Amino acid sequence: MCPLPAIGEEFLYCVKAAGFAGGAAAVGQACGLRPVPPSAAPDRESTPGARTSGGKPPLDAHSGRQRPSPCHDLRMAAHGDLIHVPGAGSAPTHDPRAWVDGTCGHCGRVVNAAVLAFTQDLPSAKWTRCTSCGEGSYVARNGRTFPGPRIGRDVEGLPDIVAEAYAEARDCAGVNAFTACEMTCRKILMHIAVDKGANERGTTFKGFIDYLEQHNHVTPAMKPWVDVIRQHGNIAVHELPHTDTERALGTLTFTEHLLRNVYEMEHLARRFAPKADDIEPTSV
Ligand SMILES: [Zn+2]
Repeated sequence: MCPLPAIGEEFLYCVKAAGFAGGAAAVGQACGLRPVPPSAAPDRESTPGARTSGGKPPLDAHSGRQRPSPCHDLRMAAHGDLIHVPGAGSAPTHDPRAWVDGTCGHCGRVVNAAVLAFTQDLPSAKWTRCTSCGEGSYVARNGRTFPGPRIGRDVEGLPDIVAEAYAEARDCAGVNAFTACEMTCRKILMHIAVDKGANERGTTFKGFIDYLEQHNHVTPAMKPWVDVIRQHGNIAVHELPHTDTERALGTLTFTEHLLRNVYEMEHLARRFAPKADDIEPTSV
């Protein structure tokens, strides 16, 4: 009575159930996210996380076949609000091929992304949609995702222009643009110096580095690895050989730690330091 539909059919079923087509009553609009048969609606709340539990999806009471798992644990609609054009290769959402694990290149979350489409002759390549932010991506045959996830970790407390430059360096690394990554890391040194008061006009690159040292933003202990950023950036800018992947990732790591030292520690101190009123008079 309630055959499990393919993806495209499932969308049509949901439309009918919601009363938007054919004048049907909205008895089956179970979740508003992923369409499910009417029989699935009453107990969908009782099986949270069924899709990710590792077990098989529950059986539909009418058809006796496996039905799509409840989707209230998903933040985005995944397959539910999409219009698919059913073809010979359409797959129901309980099909393992309808989902793929990975890190979203848009929001950075580790998700079980919905596979929107793949082709019969090249099934390892697929178009996906993040179940957290809803953005679309493409997974190539070699498993690489476009856009790729950002390389490196977030740093708090950055001024906007520095944050933009750091995000650009991470994005460059995420798409194997390692020369551009190192050039941007070099430029971040200039951004930091100007943000801390160096004169943007008329200052040489060496002058920016000297400024950071003279004003104690780069301490003697930090100087050797900050100099690595400078040296690698100079090679990327002035020399022809292709930038080595490992070297560029190291440059990005040093840049991350420089930003953490210069900005994030101060930012966290402002957030967590005790207020003057909280300090007991007898405290030492
Ligand atoms: Zn996402």
